[in-house]
Amino acid sequence: MDCLFCKIIQGDIPSSKVFENEYVYAFKDINPQMPVHVLIVPKAHLGSADEVDASNSRYVAAIFEAIPRIAAQAGLTNGYRVVTNVGEDGCQSVKHLHFHLLGGGKMSEKMN
Ligand code: 5GP
Ligand code: ZN
Repeated sequence: MDCLFCKIIQGDIPSSKVFENEYVYAFKDINPQMPVHVLIVPKAHLGSADEVDASNSRYVAAIFEAIPRIAAQAGLTNGYRVVTNVGEDGCQSVKHLHFHLLGGGKMSEKMN
């Protein structure tokens, strides 16, 4: 499959890894929008959060189990934001489910 994040998970495209386990791969965003900007992806190809169901939700659970560890490792002691964009209206550009972990400063109260 021609998927950028599948290629990153497989190591065919280099990335700055910050966390990995059986279900999860996390790496630095190439175009950070905050001092800390990590992308957290399932090691199975899911197109977006819109494809999550009972057959694959273990991956999402594993991602959310990893988030506090990744945040602590990044020094985010004062909070952070987790975002996932879905589809055209959500401005999703890479069609492999990913969660943005953003922090290292005060963010906008606006969500859009
Ligand atoms: P989206 O807009 O789909 O929610 O987020 C995609 C994210 O992937 C963007 O923040 C973008 O900077 C990041 N990105 C795109 N291509 C690459 C890449 O090749 N390597 C890394 N590390 N991040 C990428
Ligand atoms: Zn993929």
